[in-house]
Amino acid sequence: MEVVIHESTIGHSVGDGATRSDSAKDNNSVPLKTEKFSYSNGNGTADATFRMLPQKTPIDMQFENITYTAVEGGLFSKKNKKEILHQVNGRFPPGQLIAIMGPSGAGKSTLLDVLSGYRIRGIGGTVYINGTARNLKEFRKLSCYITQDDRLQPLLTVEENMEIAADLKLSSDVSKREKNEIIDEILNTLGLFKSKKTKAGGLSGGQKKRMSIALELISNPLVMFLDEPTTGLDSSSCTSCVKLLKELARQGRSIICTIHQPSASLFQLFDQVYVLAAGNCLYQGSTDSLVPFLDTVGFACPKFHNPADYVIELACGEYGYDKIEEMIRATNNGRSLTHFNEPEKLSYGKMLKALHFCVSAEEGNASDNGEEALVATSKYNQLKVLLRRGFIKAKRDQTLTYLRIGVNVMVGLMLGTLYIKAGIDGSKVLDNYNLLFSILMHHMMSTMMLTILTFPAEMSILIKEHFNRWYSLKMYYTSVTLVDIPLSVFCCFIFSVIIYYMTSQPPELVRFSMFFVTSLLVVFVAQSFGLMIGAYFNVVNGTFLGPTLSVPMMMFAGFGVSLRDLPYYLYWGSYISYLRFGLEGIVGAVYGLDRGEIACPEDMYCHYKYPKKFLQDVAVRADQFDNDVIALILFLFVLRISAYVILRYKLMAVR
Ligand code: ADP
Ligand code: MG
Repeated sequence: MEVVIHESTIGHSVGDGATRSDSAKDNNSVPLKTEKFSYSNGNGTADATFRMLPQKTPIDMQFENITYTAVEGGLFSKKNKKEILHQVNGRFPPGQLIAIMGPSGAGKSTLLDVLSGYRIRGIGGTVYINGTARNLKEFRKLSCYITQDDRLQPLLTVEENMEIAADLKLSSDVSKREKNEIIDEILNTLGLFKSKKTKAGGLSGGQKKRMSIALELISNPLVMFLDEPTTGLDSSSCTSCVKLLKELARQGRSIICTIHQPSASLFQLFDQVYVLAAGNCLYQGSTDSLVPFLDTVGFACPKFHNPADYVIELACGEYGYDKIEEMIRATNNGRSLTHFNEPEKLSYGKMLKALHFCVSAEEGNASDNGEEALVATSKYNQLKVLLRRGFIKAKRDQTLTYLRIGVNVMVGLMLGTLYIKAGIDGSKVLDNYNLLFSILMHHMMSTMMLTILTFPAEMSILIKEHFNRWYSLKMYYTSVTLVDIPLSVFCCFIFSVIIYYMTSQPPELVRFSMFFVTSLLVVFVAQSFGLMIGAYFNVVNGTFLGPTLSVPMMMFAGFGVSLRDLPYYLYWGSYISYLRFGLEGIVGAVYGLDRGEIACPEDMYCHYKYPKKFLQDVAVRADQFDNDVIALILFLFVLRISAYVILRYKLMAVR
């Protein structure tokens, strides 16, 4: 049997002539290979049905004695273990739309996390896939997880989001045209075709949810886990979302979602329900058998009462906790499969003939080492696609790009005006020295804070995409590192030119180059430092820590207290402060290279007319440029690698 969902039931943009002619036009311009899609309803009007069928034997999932124990308590408080799931059991057959229901805090998301393989620590029990114990890696290749919050790239349009996902999730053998066919197919089915050019940040709640589903559908998963896909949607968006999920299930996928409190009509759409209360299973079985089950245990659902509401009221303990115990006993905590309809026989033969271009993860990457084996495309391709996405984002990003350029120009002009011509004035050498330090402060603070403030938002998208196997962390990290280089160089260059010219530093190319290189290295080091903090801490803690940790670095730079006057037991501090090397390098650029006497205006006393004397007094060695550059590059490497390690740890720690 076939459930044909018309566009008018999916999405709001519907049923009107425009949508139809849109898709018809599209079909004309991109002739579909009908033999590939021909499984569908046979009369050739398949455009409203989802034609991408699963490629593999559908998955029958069974789980036994699942427990999950969370560890509560932090660094300084006593750690205590808290069991959240208590030996629950169940079976999720293929081709069904399954709802995990229960009151808030019942453990729905936790169960979903465990079954999807997102949680990896503190778990007991076994999950079986088609009768054999689950191999998590293999399973992850077939499944996807759609989080409750929609973590989309807000600056990219729907179409761009889809293209990026297709380029990452489909094998590189798939041609551009085929990818576009798949994308159009999915967007049509999900009612997003008209919003193709809308930025994901501007989509409505329901559209965002469908967008999240669309992105994961590209790799044609056999099992989809969705955490509260309907929460926050209006009732018509809810219904269309669930109908869509039902259609996907009918094609042989297992669709498992948690749901908070469905209306009676929505509830009827689900094939099977799994009711949780405080980490125990109250009922599992077909939706239709729920009411009879409640009858048999003696808590008949009152007439005209939504069974979904009633069972949740029961699960909340509104009718007494003994009833909960009774139900747990009756279902044997999910072991009993008596209320369970065998799924309709699906014609798997037909499915295997279906679309061949939708390649699963396995075929893409033959290597079997760690996470790379999970990703569909080569490292080179991941990097290419991520760089493309990074540059599109950078081009559209108001804060990260335009504000940053603006700030560099503004601060450059301001400092330039304040210290105008200080560089060639023998009476203003100390002023000029202050300027050089201010320049370092500017480079350090602006880049570090920008990263601390923006990276945590990226983090949640990273966690989702990484878990859904879009790319490996290495390639993501490499792309983040590379994407920012052009803009950093550009901003630093503009700033350096403005300030160098306005404050009349010595007009020699060598000196300017030294000045610029030191500034740029400080920018990169500060950014890596920010990344390290941003990868570990949230915005609030990061904003506190970043500047706070920078203060000792300023102390040890040799600016306020010269390195000569630094007590010997604190001298080590000057080695861990990258600003020290920055200051030395930048002072070396301006006053090093045996710079001669600086002109002194008439009637003025110029104490530091001779740069040598000045350098002696402030105890800065100006002949260390090479060492300064090496030290800064070392800092850069160490901080970048630390940030990577922290990121890697963080990705695993959240699981
Ligand atoms: P829901 O059914 O609302 O999705 P969850 O699965 O998110 O519920 O959580 C179930 C229970 O477990 C809640 O009471 C929650 O407070 C608790 N819990 C979840 N994760 C942790 C954790 N890491 N540490 C302590 N308690 C947790
Ligand atoms: Mg939840």
